[in-house]
Amino acid sequence: MKVLVSDPIPEEAVLMMKNAGIDVDVRTGLSKEELIEIIPNYDALVVRSGTKVTAEVIEAGKRLKIIGRAGVGVDNIDVGAATQKGIVVANAPGGNSVSTAELAIGMIFSVARKIPQAVSSVKSGKWERKKFMGTELKGKTVGVVGLGRIGFEVAKRLRSLEMNVIAYDPYISESKAREIGVELLPLEEVLRRSDFITIHVPKTRETEKMFSKKEFEMMKDGAYIINCARGGIVDEGALYEALKSGKLAGAALDVYESEPPSMDNPILSLENTVTTPHIGASTREAQISVGLTIAEEIINVSKGLPVRNAVNLPSLDPTVYEKIFPYMILAEKIGKIASARLNKVVRAVKVTYRGAISAYETNYITRSLLMGLLKEVLGPNINLVSCIPVAKERRIKIEESKSESTEYYESLLEVTVEGDDRSITIEGTCFGKEDYRIIKIDKYKVDFIPKGNYIISLHEDKPGVIGRVGTLFGRNNINIAGMIVGRHGGRGGIQLMLLLVDDVPPENVLNQMTELDGILDATYIEL
Ligand code: NAD
Repeated sequence: MKVLVSDPIPEEAVLMMKNAGIDVDVRTGLSKEELIEIIPNYDALVVRSGTKVTAEVIEAGKRLKIIGRAGVGVDNIDVGAATQKGIVVANAPGGNSVSTAELAIGMIFSVARKIPQAVSSVKSGKWERKKFMGTELKGKTVGVVGLGRIGFEVAKRLRSLEMNVIAYDPYISESKAREIGVELLPLEEVLRRSDFITIHVPKTRETEKMFSKKEFEMMKDGAYIINCARGGIVDEGALYEALKSGKLAGAALDVYESEPPSMDNPILSLENTVTTPHIGASTREAQISVGLTIAEEIINVSKGLPVRNAVNLPSLDPTVYEKIFPYMILAEKIGKIASARLNKVVRAVKVTYRGAISAYETNYITRSLLMGLLKEVLGPNINLVSCIPVAKERRIKIEESKSESTEYYESLLEVTVEGDDRSITIEGTCFGKEDYRIIKIDKYKVDFIPKGNYIISLHEDKPGVIGRVGTLFGRNNINIAGMIVGRHGGRGGIQLMLLLVDDVPPENVLNQMTELDGILDATYIEL
């Protein structure tokens, strides 16, 4: 087996592959043309984030079996193109969690004791002991926002500093938090009670500018904020104002909205800010860990063993793929609807395959369902391969069952998802490649192709309700392209309404909708 390493990886990883009898060439800094010229000679390619593995490179790599990314993000690899060619793309998740957690802890010490400022002062010949009066950590409250892999390691370590650790992560199970003695609380309470806030959420639609003027105002006077997650989760303009006014005593940032930050970024001029150049994962151990993980994957492939951390699934037999593909799309959409209706809280998933589809590789369909359920919460950290171990790590119960018989359809997918205090059951079927349909939501019979912008709502079945919704949307220039009322039983009671809209309804319009007489709730979902 011949491996090309085109970005610098630790020597230990190269040696590990060589010791396993693999022929390794380390050639970093190749131009795109050079890479395309030599790639046909190799069975495996190992990269970090530098090499752009485009569809063109993949096309040229006639012998390629695996592309290994020594790190987590695979944005620099055209995973779709690789999948089509049957090439496995593997990454090394989790290898840098401890390093990033330790940086966050270091940042907490740094802001509390103004260590970097004191270092510069001494080095510039001063001895300003009064200026660097700090804050003790013992007994203080620290709020961990996002209790995933990194947040968990941070919380665990902070407990040993005799700090009172609270956390906000509505999507993680209580039992996981209890394991390390951390109390899960609503965001507002975490903001109000914490002396330090440390952020460990992924960047998603929901977390973008999650920390802005309103959140800073809720925080304790003189609190500190630490962001070692992703730029853009904290609104830098609002942070500058909060630090300048003294509302916040200090901030520590490893990440920025745009990296490197412009020298005009006013945050850089503030005395009470500590900052580093996105070095959370930059430790020898983290680099070795991800390097060795990838080396191990390459060795596995050379021995014909399965890959542990693939981000794409092996290509399926085309006839099987054709059959299950529409169900994979349907399942992902069902997952999205269930997640939205349960406020993204998922504790258990039960999926039943009925009829002809039960004879196929339904595992792929279940994975797609999990993707739909988790993507909004975990962002780019989740893929068709990682979704099963990640769901298990998050204590989500997954139950799959099959039955050969169906009543009305050739095949039927029946999904029940449990949230914290409620559950939802959705049924769907497929009539063709593009014709995947949802036919039941809870007890309500519907029939629609889940594609487009939908509002799902429960309402009282009485005259005038639907008209009021139409008027509200018309007033706000939102065009209703279609409407389904899934009626259960006769006139009256609570019924389900599905609105297909051409325009994305702003949040205030959705809020106004829920305030209309007869409307119980309303959820917007992009399908
Ligand atoms: P993870 O997916 O394991 O955990 C993220 C957690 O955030 C999950 O438990 C999820 O439930 C929670 N979450 C999602 N949306 C939330 C919300 N709106 N409110 C509260 N909680 C929410 O991810 P991870 O590996 O722990 O990474 C955490 C962050 O650290 C990511 O942004 C990642 O990109 C970043 N990171 C930074 C560096 C660095 O060099 N600074 C290195 C590695 C990772």
